[in-house]
Amino acid sequence: NRRIVLARRPQGEPLETDFCLETEAVPQVGPGQVLLRTVYLSLDPYMRGRMSDAPSYAKPVALGEVMVGGTVCRVAASQHPDYAVGEWVLAQSGWQDYALSDGRGLLRVDARHPSYSLGVLGMPGYTGYMGLLDIGQPKPGETVVVAAASGAVGSVVGQVARIKGCRVVGIAGGVDKCRYAVEELGFDACVDHRAADLAGRLAEVTPDGIDVYFENVGGKVFDAVLPRLNPRARVPVCGLISAYNATEPPAGPDRLPALMGVVLRKRIRMQGFIIMQDYPDGFGEFRQTMGAWLEQGYIKYREDVVEGLEAAGRGLIGLLRGENAGKRIVRVGDE
Ligand code: NDP
Repeated sequence: NRRIVLARRPQGEPLETDFCLETEAVPQVGPGQVLLRTVYLSLDPYMRGRMSDAPSYAKPVALGEVMVGGTVCRVAASQHPDYAVGEWVLAQSGWQDYALSDGRGLLRVDARHPSYSLGVLGMPGYTGYMGLLDIGQPKPGETVVVAAASGAVGSVVGQVARIKGCRVVGIAGGVDKCRYAVEELGFDACVDHRAADLAGRLAEVTPDGIDVYFENVGGKVFDAVLPRLNPRARVPVCGLISAYNATEPPAGPDRLPALMGVVLRKRIRMQGFIIMQDYPDGFGEFRQTMGAWLEQGYIKYREDVVEGLEAAGRGLIGLLRGENAGKRIVRVGDE
């Protein structure tokens, strides 16, 4: 059993040496247990937070402990009445080939596209769907802007907003991601956050202002969005990835008073959320709705597959740099 453990807490951007690949015997299944064999491992931005011991909504991974992560596994051995050998399940078994489970928290997944349960039909898809609909409250004809637009969460936000009849504008890194958002995902426009004059370009494609801004990024992307927000705009605060590797606060001046002034005068509603903590009950219904939209072709999805467990650390580092084209997963073993 190969397992990747946290070797060191990163300062700033993680390094490959912050992870350590270990090998141990495959665990033996006992009464009431299943042995899971990992086929796909999800890589997600929150993993950067778990590598750090700064205060957060979830406890950090301890040094020497297996890195956490969502997985799609095959049941390799079973002494559990509900699970048979060969079944596909969604688990939280982390960065390793094999893990034991007592069945709690396992979810059976569709064998046609098992890996989709880590993305569009899983936690990231649910995040985009719920954050947009419950907190964003988009109305037909409104303008919805989403950052990290071509990624796992952002691509769902934009496509659901399009289904709800909104004008959809993405913000993404590079011309290829922007072209993908418009040509494949059906966004009305997408601007490159690396281009000069981001604020000017965003103003051009949001002539009626912004009614919903789905925040995945923070930093200079939010700076460009803020002046475009309409009165009574809603801002689901989902992630702030531009700061995850930061080691110190950004240079001054302090713009917090100006921000609070805008929030007050325009009566802007900002709300953070942590998907599985705030919406523990809607996942089943979401999977049905999203499954139907996928089947009917309303929702497009692409995966960015990293080959081999040993490449997971490098894969996470690249995800935080924006090197992924779509939902990043690791192929750990054969289907
Ligand atoms: P993505 O698939 O979107 O991949 C991350 C993307 O972030 C990169 O591809 C890159 O896109 C973008 N990015 C990275 N650094 C920067 C930067 N400095 N400036 C602008 N963009 C940057 O990841 P996910 O869809 O999984 O996650 C998106 C966000 O949602 C994250 O902030 C994550 O933490 C958050 N999240 C929150 C949850 C919650 O419950 N609140 C649950 C799940 C995710 P590009 O090249 O386009 O810049």
